[in-house]
Amino acid sequence: MRVLVVEDEKKVARALREGLEAEHYEVAVAHTGEEGFFLVNEQVFDLIVLDLMLPGRDGLDVLRNVRKRGLQTPVLILTARDAVDDRVLGLDTGADDYLVKPFAFAELLARIRALVRRGRTDQVLRLKLADLELDLVSRHVHRGGHALSLTAREFELLEYLLRHAGHSVSREMLARDVWKEPQRDATTDNLIDVHIARLRKKVDDPFGRPLLKTIRGVGFALTESET
Ligand code: CA
Repeated sequence: MRVLVVEDEKKVARALREGLEAEHYEVAVAHTGEEGFFLVNEQVFDLIVLDLMLPGRDGLDVLRNVRKRGLQTPVLILTARDAVDDRVLGLDTGADDYLVKPFAFAELLARIRALVRRGRTDQVLRLKLADLELDLVSRHVHRGGHALSLTAREFELLEYLLRHAGHSVSREMLARDVWKEPQRDATTDNLIDVHIARLRKKVDDPFGRPLLKTIRGVGFALTESET
């Protein structure tokens, strides 16, 4: 498995290279958009991890070029927090998935494995559980055909829960991956609980059949089964 990492932040690039090599991926690193452009044109990769914010030719340029040439290589884009437009633009341009910085390395590996498994035939642009559906490009959420109106944070929270559907998600994970707080504390716990309650009101209460479960002593899970 050959992975191309296009990332200008040297520290992040190095961490990605070391982490991926430890997982037995063969890794090439480009530190600029131009370099990424060049490597994509010269070599064959099974997957591309592409930072969107690059000096010179940016990540979107690289992505456009990849898709214009008809390459089906799965592309995972890295975006800055709050750069929702970038994310949408990236997915529209042909990225298969995205990760918001800073991210946990375990999360990146999970995404990479999922992308490799799915290939490009089945894009990860829509997440689904039972009659609940979340569209990553349009950012619309539906349940049983009804449109749900979520805030940006509620959307991110639901997206995270859907990505881990069927598995329990702890408050530590939510604090780290959704709220981007390195450490869980009482304030963040409180925020998480408030948002879970709001989400439940929108996603579950009108529909009779709850999907968002509280798992005592562990956290939460979005699941069809009774816990
Ligand atoms: Ca960057």
